[in-house]
Amino acid sequence: AMPVPFLDLKAQYAPLRDDILAAMGKVLDNTAYILGPAVADFEKQFAPYCGATHAIGVNTGTSALQLALLALGVGPGDEVIVPAMTFIATASAVDYTGARTVVVDVDPVTGTMDPALIEAAITPRTKVIMPVHLYGQPVDMDPILAIAAKHGLKVVEDAAQAHGAEYKGCRCGSMGALAVFSFYPGKNLGAYGEGGAVVTSDAEADRVVRILRDWGQDRRYHHIMKGFNARMDGLQGAVLGVKLAHLEGWTEGRRRAAAMYADALAGIPGLTLPQARADVRHVWHIYATQVPERDRVLKYLNDHGIGAAIHYPVPVHLQPCFAEWGYRAGQFPVAEHIGANELSLPMFPELTRAQVDEVASVLREALQKA
Ligand SMILES: *Cc1c(COP(=O)(O)O)cnc(C)c1O
Repeated sequence: AMPVPFLDLKAQYAPLRDDILAAMGKVLDNTAYILGPAVADFEKQFAPYCGATHAIGVNTGTSALQLALLALGVGPGDEVIVPAMTFIATASAVDYTGARTVVVDVDPVTGTMDPALIEAAITPRTKVIMPVHLYGQPVDMDPILAIAAKHGLKVVEDAAQAHGAEYKGCRCGSMGALAVFSFYPGKNLGAYGEGGAVVTSDAEADRVVRILRDWGQDRRYHHIMKGFNARMDGLQGAVLGVKLAHLEGWTEGRRRAAAMYADALAGIPGLTLPQARADVRHVWHIYATQVPERDRVLKYLNDHGIGAAIHYPVPVHLQPCFAEWGYRAGQFPVAEHIGANELSLPMFPELTRAQVDEVASVLREALQKA
């Protein structure tokens, strides 16, 4: 048997090594450790990649979410609507602003925010709807944008898992008032440390986020807003600048891997495969299947060298740290079902047919033992 890792960052680094080291060397030579030309260059390339006019490099995707909300004036007394199935940062960023996090359930097929449930969650305090392009699949944005327009709300896209994804031909990052990306190393575009960006086509939002990321100063030591130390490192800007040129190729690799899985895993009893909507370009950050007896199947895969994982076992409304919100088990049944049944298979651009076949064969064995 051949072990298959969940992620293989070494396979991606090897062919880029010389370019990365040269770009990092330039940062070290000019001592531009924080922000500086490498970050500015990356911002200039990343904004049009997302179909937006401005990109602001920050220290993490989580900070990017927080600053995007603050740029829209979100604070205590406001409410922000988020999906129940997401990485915790989506909800934590709302919490950091002092606003209340309002949770809605997700679509059973895609796992993304269910637009049909949003209007019932809107109150006079609602300010922002924050859908998540979960697993690299764009949310059904048209109904969300229509609801936001009807109620005078803003949309912030959590695109942390969706670099280069498209909804009806529009890039993720180009549809909300602002959008947020993460460059955590395991994301589709990963830095060699922490990183994130806010993307927008609103010049005023761009100005405010730039000020907020750098201690709220509009010039040195003149602090016009209560800001943060949320700047991107020069070294991360350099790495991301080199890597962005390869992202389309990597995305095609992920899409090929997803197609190979669809072929190799077809017809396995009990296994539910992820479905890409017909009107999207899914970028497959996560290959999210569902299986019965998930924890047993996961252990079987891991014991047999397959790097499978779960995204995410506990929906945000049931996280102990958010008990104060007063949500109960059973309230968002689709997210809870995904939490109990989801199984993420290895996914990275360089995945080979032999690796896909190995995953399929071990998974078939695991499910036969049910
Ligand atoms: C990774 C991620 C974040 C947070 O990004 P960090 O860079 O790790 O802070 C936010 N939302 C989602 C959906 C994510 O996957």
